[in-house]
Amino acid sequence: MEKIITEMIKEIGEDPKRKGLQDTPKRVSKAWEYITKGYRENLDDIVNGALFDSDTRDMVIVKDIEIYSMCEHHMLPFFGKCHVGYIPNGKVLGVSKLARIADHFGRRLQIQEQLTHQISTTVMDVLGCEGVGVVIEAKHLCMMMRGVEKQNSSMVTSSMQGQFRNSAKTREEFLRLI
Ligand SMILES: [Zn+2]
Repeated sequence: MEKIITEMIKEIGEDPKRKGLQDTPKRVSKAWEYITKGYRENLDDIVNGALFDSDTRDMVIVKDIEIYSMCEHHMLPFFGKCHVGYIPNGKVLGVSKLARIADHFGRRLQIQEQLTHQISTTVMDVLGCEGVGVVIEAKHLCMMMRGVEKQNSSMVTSSMQGQFRNSAKTREEFLRLI
């Protein structure tokens, strides 16, 4: 990775030996290891031990989960908020775990549509719940600092499964609460 970054610095017309840039390949390499750590995590380790029995059939929502990901078309960041809701069917998940699941799929090369879907499918699978709704609102640097340069636009994606897809009432309740 460090070799590639050094090449890239040369390619854009900079001098990798310049003082400020000398340690840059090492830093960039470390940063990329972190922002793509989703590839090296195991989902079972994340969820493990955080499933609790519960009789409730009422909607559980965690909103405003910060999300950071990398657009797979430009390898530039997109970031924003993720809202997750589900209706339990015998089990609930420790509250921080929804954020960990969002990170697990966010910390890699992504498109927002797929990220939204992967989170809802995973919550559905892990919990065996009645339904899941996921909404992500994000800003994409590939749109903001290049291309069309639209600084104030954001993209909203949603993925509804089970009761959230089948029942307009459930979906409305979720959307109202987030
Ligand atoms: Zn992009």
